[in-house]
Amino acid sequence: MHDTVWDVMVVGAGPAGLMAAITCARGSLRVLVLEAKEKIGAKLLISGGGRCNITNLKVSERDYQSGQSRTVRNILRAFPPERALDFFKELGVTMVLEEGTKFFPKDQSAKTVLNALLQEADRCGVHMERSRKVNSISCHQNLFQVQGNGFQYNSKTVIMATGGLSYPGTGSDGTGYELAKKFRHKIVSTIPALTPLTTDDPDWKSLSGITLPVILMLEVNNQEIASSAGPVLFTHRGFSGPAVLDISGAWLRCHAKEKKLRVNFLPEKNETALRREFIEALKEHPKWSWKRFLALYFPDRLVEVLLRKLDMPPGLQIIHTSKEEREDLLKGLLHFSLQVTGSLGYEKAEVTSGGVDLAEVDSKTLESKRCPGLFFAGEILDVDGRIGGFNFQWAWASGFVTGMTISKKRGSP
Ligand SMILES: Cc1cc2nc3c(=O)[nH]c(=O)nc-3n(C[C@H](O)[C@H](O)[C@H](O)COP(=O)(O)OP(=O)(O)OC[C@H]3O[C@@H](n4cnc5c(N)ncnc54)[C@H](O)[C@@H]3O)c2cc1C
Repeated sequence: MHDTVWDVMVVGAGPAGLMAAITCARGSLRVLVLEAKEKIGAKLLISGGGRCNITNLKVSERDYQSGQSRTVRNILRAFPPERALDFFKELGVTMVLEEGTKFFPKDQSAKTVLNALLQEADRCGVHMERSRKVNSISCHQNLFQVQGNGFQYNSKTVIMATGGLSYPGTGSDGTGYELAKKFRHKIVSTIPALTPLTTDDPDWKSLSGITLPVILMLEVNNQEIASSAGPVLFTHRGFSGPAVLDISGAWLRCHAKEKKLRVNFLPEKNETALRREFIEALKEHPKWSWKRFLALYFPDRLVEVLLRKLDMPPGLQIIHTSKEEREDLLKGLLHFSLQVTGSLGYEKAEVTSGGVDLAEVDSKTLESKRCPGLFFAGEILDVDGRIGGFNFQWAWASGFVTGMTISKKRGSP
């Protein structure tokens, strides 16, 4: 085995690596996958709350943060969501559409997705080795030597699919970046993305467990520079839920001193409609307290915090408030400031923003411009998507494209 020259060596058996390996093996290439962990697919198994949001109905480069949107577009077009769905259908995984755009396996189990990938890899003859952490890759005369503790293999091509730095417990600890740097690849500085944000404000923390739909706005000097919509979840550490995760990357990337995270607690209502409802309340229920009135919209615990933060006594009757006070309340509900102190970082990040610079890989094949025969797939690249199956779609598409490129070059596709 150690003397064998493999056609393709895939480093990392996450979604991108497995897709790349299967694609190469279907093209009759001899493929060896080296995975650092004993257990394969740890991240895939915890994805989507254990249900694996496999892809999205509509995916475009606009759903991603990256240095080169043209490259992202090329790769996504070569393997769009329909092809991902066909691929999994062929492997016997039935999908269901949820919330209008998100695809999950019908049995709600990420394990079904992982098992399908592993069975297909096995069926195609992919050779898989676990507990094989690669710590050195070199290339001499078009032959790659891939090494780790107690092993060394040779291969004609290498696909690096080692992921980023997010959820390091699942195996993605950033070693891939170091390996890429040895080939003079630039790494666009990384930050955690899709990660919960923290606060030290006891009021917000006291709301732990409450979830509600909101719009979040990141503002610098009162200018909105990013926004997200969806549920926010209050936690004992701060803020989580899709809307928060989606804006976390922009928040962490922004170093402006004056940055503020604002929340619209009533995303379904505009200012005029809400003002009308306040006036109606004044006419119909003048003796109601604001606490009673706001309980029509929000859970009691949230009402108490909102009124406290707006300096309004909870028992204050609607009739005893001035127009200005009503306006302050209205503006507050639609434009509340959340005090954010930081984030839960890579430990709880669903994805890493930044990575191998797309300017140094071929925009159609993801082959290294520094070292022919070396490819990159998945999260290791400077591409990160928003919540909703976009990151897996990037993994499937980039894995497929690298695998197909090598198959075409080296064998029959
Ligand atoms: C909690 C959570 C939930 C998520 N839910 C979703 C979701 O529902 N939908 C979605 O689209 N995305 C989701 N994501 C994001 C998605 O899981 C990732 O974008 C995706 O797994 C990236 O795939 P990858 O193959 O590039 O990297 P990874 O999945 O990180 O896999 C990399 C693999 O490489 C191995 N490796 C690393 N270094 C080495 C080395 N030196 N030698 C050998 N092997 C190595 C690692 O052990 C790992 O197995 C979620 C992420 C998390 C953390």
